[in-house]
Amino acid sequence: MFKRWWFVGQLRTDRGAGPVRRKGLSREAQHLVIAEWEAAYERLQRIAAERVAAVGDVLREAELPVGDAALDSAARRDYQWALDAFGAAGKVLDEAGDLPDLAAAAVLAERALERFAAVHARLAGAAHPPKPAERCYYNPLHAAAERPHRPEKRSAKRRVRPREAAADRRPGCASCRRAILAGQAPDVLPALIPVRVSRLRKARVLVPYYSVPQKWSLWSLSACGAYGDEWPALVLRGEHRRRSVTSAPAGGARRA
Ligand SMILES: [Zn+2]
Repeated sequence: MFKRWWFVGQLRTDRGAGPVRRKGLSREAQHLVIAEWEAAYERLQRIAAERVAAVGDVLREAELPVGDAALDSAARRDYQWALDAFGAAGKVLDEAGDLPDLAAAAVLAERALERFAAVHARLAGAAHPPKPAERCYYNPLHAAAERPHRPEKRSAKRRVRPREAAADRRPGCASCRRAILAGQAPDVLPALIPVRVSRLRKARVLVPYYSVPQKWSLWSLSACGAYGDEWPALVLRGEHRRRSVTSAPAGGARRA
């Protein structure tokens, strides 16, 4: 998403995770950060709005027979989950304030459609509808995550190299895995967070979305709603607003 990782230089500290250095947070650097963030926000907002609208069109036209006796309790649950996920996607899109909100709107809308398709497939007689592909942890809007392909039998004896271990730690798309295996940073979805530069001045920096503490972000906890089923209900109850980075004290992000 970003050509340069602004946050790498900006969060670099003289000693481990100590105070943020002022040099990388100059007013000039701030203008560049904000300009790049705004361009990315505009682009992602358009993508998320299009995806939510497209899923809405499909759900409206699909005419699922809700009262049909053919829908067993599991199918009814899945159908309700799909509707909740779609409702949550629209809510997050309307109330978005940062890039991970927009990514979550797109992810929840896509997951609503996947679940809806699974209910339809079961109604059409499929005993086991295909499982949706796992999403890339580094940016859940990337292509589907890839599983490492290693010979099973020799894996016990074969020593896994540190870069392979790093690539296997989280589900990653082919591009992110390639980057990690090459010792480079994957193309991470960033979040904009405030940090305190001095007693009187705050600045904003971009950090990987998953490094925002979970108490300030529902999306760092859930990979933008990609993993787990509890997020639509939490969004509909307003939990995404309670866990907002705007409520975070400056300097609250962990280093990646
Ligand atoms: Zn990726």
